[in-house]
Amino acid sequence: MKNIMEQKSGRLIYPILLFFSLTLVFNLNGQTPAGTKPAIHKFQIPADYLKEAANIPAYWISAYDEVNAFLLKTVKKGKVEVIGTSAGGRPIRAVFYGKARQGKGTTTFSGSLGYGDMRAYRGPDHDKTVYMGMASVHGGEFEGIVGMVNLISVIETGKDLRGKEWPEITAVVAKVDRLILIPIVNPDGRVRIPLRMETFRDTDFTVAEFLNTGGNAEGKITGWPQIKEFIPMDFSKPGFPGGYPNDAGVNVQHDDFFGNRQPETQALLDLTGREKPDVIINLHTGAVYMRMDRPICEPALHPAFDTLFRYVHSELGRKGLQYSKDPQIAGDPALASTGVFNLDGALNFHCGALSVVVESPSHSFDGVNEDGKPAGQSPDMLIDAQLICHQQAMKFLAETGGRSKWLPGRKK
Ligand SMILES: [Zn+2]
Repeated sequence: MKNIMEQKSGRLIYPILLFFSLTLVFNLNGQTPAGTKPAIHKFQIPADYLKEAANIPAYWISAYDEVNAFLLKTVKKGKVEVIGTSAGGRPIRAVFYGKARQGKGTTTFSGSLGYGDMRAYRGPDHDKTVYMGMASVHGGEFEGIVGMVNLISVIETGKDLRGKEWPEITAVVAKVDRLILIPIVNPDGRVRIPLRMETFRDTDFTVAEFLNTGGNAEGKITGWPQIKEFIPMDFSKPGFPGGYPNDAGVNVQHDDFFGNRQPETQALLDLTGREKPDVIINLHTGAVYMRMDRPICEPALHPAFDTLFRYVHSELGRKGLQYSKDPQIAGDPALASTGVFNLDGALNFHCGALSVVVESPSHSFDGVNEDGKPAGQSPDMLIDAQLICHQQAMKFLAETGGRSKWLPGRKK
């Protein structure tokens, strides 16, 4: 989550003072920040903040156990695998479709850049197309999870969980050689927030932000980007750490990538080192309208990013899911803001993937748009935006041919 503070500065409204709060007790089975012994932590959250939404739609599957049960029940064409275990001891599951790259290259990713040909890293089937989507790197951001669950439903049954058909997704999935979908990268952070769907609170984002970035026992938010000043976080302090960190207190979007890595990060590095994806879509929540950020990555990938941005944003615009319905305006990559060095940059420099953050609006409050009006993105629209994002990113990959075509290597 990001930018909500910027977009809505001066609009903080605290709910009527809440003098009582719920204490959540977590037994952390994994490493503590000091890496020593399991610890029990008590987190305090104002009771009102833990109010589930009334009438949660059947398509809204977001909790860790619900998602696991959904995968077990639904995935037949694909294969579910545990790709790693969180700091808190929870399995991280991915769904795989298609056949992985076969054979091995002869050099490292960096070596192949120096040599000037990705074939030396990727091996004989370097030109296969591999798409990866991952959600809930931050546990309080549910939209990407629900979107991915619905995407898996479309791939498996032709319909999302609302019964809506997505023929363009079905068509493009057949054209991409390999899909890897990870609905919950950070199960520790997701489980820390004991809600399936937050209550909608108009334009007040205090509760959403508290659950995401934490706050004190009285309900005052820590806020973004202040939450990033301390990594790992000290869980022995009072209040609530939010859904950003794993159980070792680390926000893996900003892990110590070249040093003491967290198990979630290591799982992603191992997976992407094996699979060598072309595109990775890293789904977050924290925008007024869905928005893709330009990553810190190899400069040679920027033209591919511009094209990807056009594919995704022009279609979102056409479908009324951007500030402008004009695909030219909505799809202008000059609108993309550039992120800082983070997980996506690390994944790019690790395996060559174009890895991008996509920020969704939140189901729990309305962002205020450029006209000063609520953006009005209903849960239905949020799921449409998620599915369109995957559809268009896969279409981009299938139609442009992936990294081996974007940056053709030396002639042999
Ligand atoms: Zn996030």
